[in-house]
Amino acid sequence: MSWWFKAELWKRVMIGLVAGLVVGLSIRLGMGLESASEFTTNWIKPWGDAFVRLIRMLIVPLIAATLIAGIVSMGDASTLRKVGVRAFGLYGLTTLGAIILGLSAALIFNPGIGVEFPELTESVAQDVETRLDAAASASASLTDRLLAIIPSNPIAAMVSGDILGVIFFSIMFGIGILFAGEQGKAIGKAIDSASSSLISLTDKIMDLAPFGVFALMVWVASTQDYELMLSFVKLTLVLYGVCLIQILIVYPTILIVFGRESPARFFRGMSSAMAIAYSTASSAATLPATIESLVKNLGVKRSNATGVAAIGSTINMDGAAIYLSLVCIFALQASGQPVTMNTVMTIAVLATLGSVGAAGIPNGGLFMSAALLTALGFSAEQVIFFVAILFPFDRVLDMMRTLTNVTGDATVATCVDRSLTRQDSVHTQTNEGTA
Ligand code: ASP
Repeated sequence: MSWWFKAELWKRVMIGLVAGLVVGLSIRLGMGLESASEFTTNWIKPWGDAFVRLIRMLIVPLIAATLIAGIVSMGDASTLRKVGVRAFGLYGLTTLGAIILGLSAALIFNPGIGVEFPELTESVAQDVETRLDAAASASASLTDRLLAIIPSNPIAAMVSGDILGVIFFSIMFGIGILFAGEQGKAIGKAIDSASSSLISLTDKIMDLAPFGVFALMVWVASTQDYELMLSFVKLTLVLYGVCLIQILIVYPTILIVFGRESPARFFRGMSSAMAIAYSTASSAATLPATIESLVKNLGVKRSNATGVAAIGSTINMDGAAIYLSLVCIFALQASGQPVTMNTVMTIAVLATLGSVGAAGIPNGGLFMSAALLTALGFSAEQVIFFVAILFPFDRVLDMMRTLTNVTGDATVATCVDRSLTRQDSVHTQTNEGTA
């Protein structure tokens, strides 16, 4: 068994992923969809869920401690502005690429034309309606969302897992420690030590990733409604195709141009996080893995990795942007409505906002599509119909969206880090030159 522990994590995770797929499909072939679904949902999925909970457990303390420690180690807060400007600029760029690709593909391949809709089961429709109601009552207006970035109670933000609130408070607290000078040193050191301990714990939990990924893949492979998916084969193929273009062409270009980074090295370094993203379908749950891969395999500075990737996991969702563009056009075409230039522009804006607002959790993008369809003028019944029809096989689409979302965050974090390092070395050289 020693080869297992000697193998790099990404190789072990890939083995878990492929083995999970094979075992899941075999169980399904052997037992039939219904019994296989019941068996794997009751007995296999909980192991995957336990792994996801273990990582989620780390998110808030890990982000808070490493961000505060990172800011204290920067020595002053001016680097923050540079990180922020670069990160938001590049996030804008990747989202723009995603929207253009998603809309163009939808207009070329017309995923909603000629679709035969299957019968909608009552129970799925009801389930979706309840979930949509919950999502609608939880969603706030844009101003409220912006204001909510400043948590009125940082402890409450931590308890509710409000990542943006935690990031905001951690940055402020780090700055406070710097301002406090001598007086702040003790807590700065304590938080640095907490941060190192949490990082070690993350490493240990990551050793479980191959098993968690295996369990989730067995469950997905044995429960998804592939027959239903065949009715929407165009939508599925176009989503996979466009996401792959975003991952294999758009991100590598950005990495080369802005990060001067080799895409091959990047993908190798990020592969375990990418596999975790694919199997968990949650950017939030993947976040600790994303940060660790950036730091350990790509040499990104920890404070840059944490800050940029954590923000990205909540606001930068290129996979969701692609999906939302496709679904809006799909719904318009399937209901026989014209797709004019005006509608396309409206969808571009809505999909951008929707991708920023979607939660980094399973089905986040699907439930966000309800808000967009409503904004496009679909009635409540029509919205429920579309969401409910896509729901039974959303996981397969969601896995690809999440893979794209996480790869986008890591691309931007790498580019921001490389650009700051270049700037620093230019400064050092000029200073040495003038000295
Ligand atoms: N599940 C995705 C994520 O966590 C969001 C989505 O559904 O598009 O990134």
